[in-house]
Amino acid sequence: MSWLESIQYQSQQWGQRALDRHLRLGVTGLSGAGKTAFITSLVHQLTLGDQPEHLPFFAVVQQGRYLGGRLANNQPLAFPRFPYEQNVQYLQQQPATWPPSTAGWSQLNLTLRYKSAAGWRSKIQQRSELQLELVDYPGEWLLDLPMLQQDYQQWSTFCWTLFEQPHRQAEAQVFADLLANTDLNDVSELQLQRLTDAYLNLLHTFRENAATFLHQPGRLLVPGELAGAPMLKLFPLLPAQLKQDSPLLQQLSEHYHSYCDYVIKPFYRQHFSRLDRQVVLVDCLSALNAGFAAIQELQQALGLIMQSFRYGPASILGRLFKPQINKVLFAASKADHVTPEQHKALTLLLQQLLQQPIKHSHYASAKSEAMALAAIRASSAGFVQHAGQKSPCISGVELDSGNKVTLFPGEVPAKLPDTALFNRHPFQFPALAPLQHSGQQPMPHVRMDHALEFLLGDKLQ
Ligand code: GDP
Repeated sequence: MSWLESIQYQSQQWGQRALDRHLRLGVTGLSGAGKTAFITSLVHQLTLGDQPEHLPFFAVVQQGRYLGGRLANNQPLAFPRFPYEQNVQYLQQQPATWPPSTAGWSQLNLTLRYKSAAGWRSKIQQRSELQLELVDYPGEWLLDLPMLQQDYQQWSTFCWTLFEQPHRQAEAQVFADLLANTDLNDVSELQLQRLTDAYLNLLHTFRENAATFLHQPGRLLVPGELAGAPMLKLFPLLPAQLKQDSPLLQQLSEHYHSYCDYVIKPFYRQHFSRLDRQVVLVDCLSALNAGFAAIQELQQALGLIMQSFRYGPASILGRLFKPQINKVLFAASKADHVTPEQHKALTLLLQQLLQQPIKHSHYASAKSEAMALAAIRASSAGFVQHAGQKSPCISGVELDSGNKVTLFPGEVPAKLPDTALFNRHPFQFPALAPLQHSGQQPMPHVRMDHALEFLLGDKLQ
């Protein structure tokens, strides 16, 4: 897109925004939370799934006022495009497979047509239009926000406090030994690369072996378009190495400040502060499967992510970026992995993980809601008769084995479980393969209509 086209595109958006016909919706969540599946389903529901029996709680469809949605013809050519069509193809394969997960930020624009319910617009216009911009970005990038309030030394100290926790300690020791034997006067490219690679390796090991969620800097694991940028050569020195000035300490401090100025701040300024509404997806069930330490880390990581939605005048966000998000949906994803009567507990657990403040005054500027949903339902729910009793169950195809299963995956704790419960009762919620999708049929889901109503309902009045 040339600068002229870009300005024309922006001013078109401002025009639409002034008329209240434009909405920019961000979708985020940590890796594997379900962003790709959510956006793919959302686009499908809005373009092909708009039958009342399929979206019973989406009022505009229910009231027969929805005239249809289509991919907009103004997709910004210079921005990465969300691969909707490719994702649908994955689901149509035989056997169907899940599409590849989000690896950076991308955008897709939709045009939604509807009849206004009442008021001046319904009198003067036969049909109205809403321009919907969907923006997909990794939740890992929101974990960087607190880095703006720290300097390199404080950040390194924070990292090593984190690495001292029992579930991380053993893995971190190898990296600690490597740093302890490092020449602090050597700031050669090779040395910086070698140590960054070792740190990245540590973050991967944490994630795979210790089921951790809190990783900084966020771009190291999910670099997006910044892969290979010199300021991404960034890792925490040992607390003892921060006490004496050294060339390596200076170099890393420089990278740290560049990372704050050229990565974190521009992300908030250019992307985050332009969002009107936000979906935050959380995979609570995988964290429960991974154990006590994982669920605690998830809570800590969500605490950091929530800072991005707490932008009162005293907050760093309020001072620096002036966000305008006015609705946030927190969604526990993959609810089809449990039986329907567990969804209430799953929502309560999510609220506990968010430490309950979602309706708190901190968020006064943004209305929020928590719910359990499945963007693309991969199971069918029913009952089995056992010893004269009717018990709930789900049926689907196990992702790893490809075997058909019918099972009761277990109860979801409505409160954060303690270590004793994990020891007594390890959680084993299954992962399921997607049902094969014909392309023309509406995509099966759980509560996507509730999500659409919360996110878009008032804009389609
Ligand atoms: P992302 O990293 O946030 O983009 O996550 P994805 O959308 O790629 O989801 C990661 C994985 O979670 C997928 O490959 C699926 O295995 C699973 N998943 C995501 N959404 C759903 C859902 O609605 N139902 C089920 N059963 N699995 C899901």
